[in-house]
Amino acid sequence: MKGAVNIQNIIDEGQKYLMSNYGRFPISFSHGEGCRVYDYNQREYIDFLGGVAVNILGYNNKKLNDAIATQSQKLIHISNYFWIDTQVKLAKLLVENSFDGKAFFCNSGAEANEGAVKLARKYAYRKYGIQKNEVIAMTGSFHGRTLATLNLTDNPKYKEGFGPHPEGFKFAKFNDIDSFKQVLTKNTCAVIFEPIQGEGGITPIDSDFIKKVSELCKQNDVLLIADEIQTGMGRTGKLFGYQHHDITPDIMTVAKGLAGGCAIGAVIAKVEVADAFQSGDHGSTFGGNPLACAAGVATLETILDDELAENAEKIGEYFKLKLQYLSQKYSVVKAVRGHGLMLGLELSIPGAAVVQKALYKGFLINCTATNVLRFIPPLIIGTSEIDLLIEILSEIFEELELAA
Ligand SMILES: *Cc1c(COP(=O)(O)O)cnc(C)c1O
Repeated sequence: MKGAVNIQNIIDEGQKYLMSNYGRFPISFSHGEGCRVYDYNQREYIDFLGGVAVNILGYNNKKLNDAIATQSQKLIHISNYFWIDTQVKLAKLLVENSFDGKAFFCNSGAEANEGAVKLARKYAYRKYGIQKNEVIAMTGSFHGRTLATLNLTDNPKYKEGFGPHPEGFKFAKFNDIDSFKQVLTKNTCAVIFEPIQGEGGITPIDSDFIKKVSELCKQNDVLLIADEIQTGMGRTGKLFGYQHHDITPDIMTVAKGLAGGCAIGAVIAKVEVADAFQSGDHGSTFGGNPLACAAGVATLETILDDELAENAEKIGEYFKLKLQYLSQKYSVVKAVRGHGLMLGLELSIPGAAVVQKALYKGFLINCTATNVLRFIPPLIIGTSEIDLLIEILSEIFEELELAA
């Protein structure tokens, strides 16, 4: 075929020139449209992974593409020594749709959490001196892969071989208020949580638990950090996951879907907290660049104008019912969890084989916490695509039960 792409060649050269830190499927994609992606063999896949919760508007969204194209012809990058209009616009949009605060922009989720921890420590340092510097995370958490955020991530495997590790990080048992009270001390400066744990197996936080944590934080001048990197941008049926509970965090981190696929991260903090960062205290060369922020504005405006959070709630309800039907029908399915378009199916067996089978049937899904199938599609997914997924999952579970 004329101009055909040799996938084996991509793989061979990839193995030679790229580090081996990812387990990759032997597939390479050329383009996408809506909720579908196409590989170099012109095979179509329906995408329930969405670039790991990043491609919130799906593929080839006109408004997002136009915003990127237009901005790229004006300014891709300039430095933070100057005021960047698209950065201000994105900060305003984020704050107007969350809580009264100020934003700092970076380029990824881990960087946003790293920034949140630095901000919380600086806030406490200005008020109390250096003793109040400990951060509490929850068991089952995932907050990133940098040296600091690794220590907020409850997976010893990710930390192995990377020591020595920075100090001042502790864990409370997720959804266990007594455990939290035991870990909380006068040295605690912040608590970080995910409204629904993503990598930890799609486990929602209890409303009661997080409300009590929030009260204890207020009483002890401890900052509450909501990691909205996966749950934010309408994913769970509200613009931000904390909005399902009767709380407001002091700091929130956003990344993944924020710019519809462009690399970006954000830290939003209440004004009093945000002001702990003064000129020179923190920074990022690429953070808040005109291009990523223009993409962020287009993405957030589309989510708001097209009511994609409401769609996530409504379609998520439909999706969840269908998954519950699978859990009644097949004994390999143990539980259905999550909210909106962040749903998980806990299996009694490892999920890798199911992911592999789904892939060969033309569906991108993934598995977290060994045995939880995770569904985090673009927020424009429709019922017909969900029906198709349920059909092939039924086939796969049937095959597995016959084989067992
Ligand atoms: C993905 C994720 C991160 C890390 O984001 P990166 O952009 O990969 O650094 C942190 N927290 C949560 C909840 C995530 O889902």
